[in-house]
Amino acid sequence: MITSLGINTVDPTVIDLVRDTERTDDDLVLSVIGCGYLGAVHAASMAALGHTVVGVDVDQSKITALGQARPPLYEPRLADLLADGLGSGRLRFAGDPAAVRRATVHFLCVGTPQQPGGVAADLRHLDAAVTALLPYLKSGDLVVGKSTVPVGTAARLRARIQAVEPAAELAWNPEFLREGHAVADTLAPDRLVYGVPGGPTGTAAADLLNRIYAKAVADGTPVIITDYATAELTKAAANAFLATKISFINAMADLCDATGGDVVQLADALGHDRRIGRQFLGAGLGFGGGCLPKDIRAFLARAEELGAGSSLGFLREVDAINLHRRARLVELALDACGGLPAGRRIAVLGAAFKPGSDDIRDSPALDVAERLASFGADVVITDPRAVDRVAETRPQLRVTRSLDEAVRGAELILLLTEWPEYVALNPVALSKVVDRAVIIDGRNALDPARWRAAGWSYRGLGRAGS
Ligand code: NAD
Repeated sequence: MITSLGINTVDPTVIDLVRDTERTDDDLVLSVIGCGYLGAVHAASMAALGHTVVGVDVDQSKITALGQARPPLYEPRLADLLADGLGSGRLRFAGDPAAVRRATVHFLCVGTPQQPGGVAADLRHLDAAVTALLPYLKSGDLVVGKSTVPVGTAARLRARIQAVEPAAELAWNPEFLREGHAVADTLAPDRLVYGVPGGPTGTAAADLLNRIYAKAVADGTPVIITDYATAELTKAAANAFLATKISFINAMADLCDATGGDVVQLADALGHDRRIGRQFLGAGLGFGGGCLPKDIRAFLARAEELGAGSSLGFLREVDAINLHRRARLVELALDACGGLPAGRRIAVLGAAFKPGSDDIRDSPALDVAERLASFGADVVITDPRAVDRVAETRPQLRVTRSLDEAVRGAELILLLTEWPEYVALNPVALSKVVDRAVIIDGRNALDPARWRAAGWSYRGLGRAGS
């Protein structure tokens, strides 16, 4: 069957990939290149939608784990989706780039980290993924970029692709998923953005993406069909806006500390204004993770290359405010130790960059824990999901899976990732196992009055008036 893009949807030879008897002739064969956070979720979700999917990654250990339905990361529902997809025969994983041969749509999901020693995005993985894909591209294939990239990347990659296979096309379909909700966000996104070139192949590319995401489209998900630059900028702008909102409320937290105000009440009061909204007005230790910090830096670096740096100069301040949160928390912790942290037992609750995830990339919690450990404090870190990752990557830090072990005998508790189980802690019971009832609530997630009533010395960030 030929689509308007001239795409062969199911090559008869792929039948070995498709054991599902419910398959129809309209099934698509997709490849997902790069099976990390984004790609593993995308591959499993596309298989759940009924497509035949091969996931490819250069990391053989990841491929082996995914092939056994073991996700490389914690994400609700992902293990079930992997098991279903693998069991149905619609999903498989491979380390060999040749495995994409039978697919007609290729999703690029590789990492675009911060350049080592720089701030711009490092596109080496993306370029290597395209290089590996080129020998297998066929007339009518569609390559779909999902990674977060500097504006201009899609146009450059299209030229590379069409130099080798002029009848292949490229679309840019940025991903907006939230870690911890990644499967739900992939299956039912807030919106779909397709950056496509002008002309009939661009229209055909958008039609094909609508077929791939047919369920979301039928459910009324807004679809924005635009040019490459707007699609690339949408993702960068979304992250810049969210980062700015967080740093804005953190700047207000400093004002609250200077004036005796309470930033949580301030955020509530602001959030009732429908033009502002309460989301992303959580003052505290600030943002981290594998996206926002590197994405705002890459956005600014790209704007500077384009001669538009002054328009985004505020992102430098957004970044600085955010990083200063970590220094501020360390300052409060040192203060709570009377300026003498060496040998003091500090329990750090949370290592993931946010609750609901085991991702520790650029985790503010871990940064604070490491700084305090470097001062000689006896830091013990616990987290419901991320302990193994911390142990693997930072063997010098003390970790425990047991909350009880982390807090027993502690002289200072730092709540640094607001996992529900930490927010629900009973201050009375906790006060009986610690050495000193002193807590710094780095996420402003606790009720100060309740903790103080239980005999705790409580500090939040921007809660001088609480
Ligand atoms: P990740 O580091 O978890 O995964 C990247 C994967 O790509 C790794 O498994 C790596 O082995 C693989 N890879 C590298 N080079 C490759 C190659 N040449 N061929 C095949 N595989 C290769 O990163 P991630 O968090 O999944 O992010 C991927 C992209 O998605 C980034 O651009 C990121 O900004 C964007 N993004 C991420 C999220 C998120 O929440 N994690 C959300 C939206 C967008």
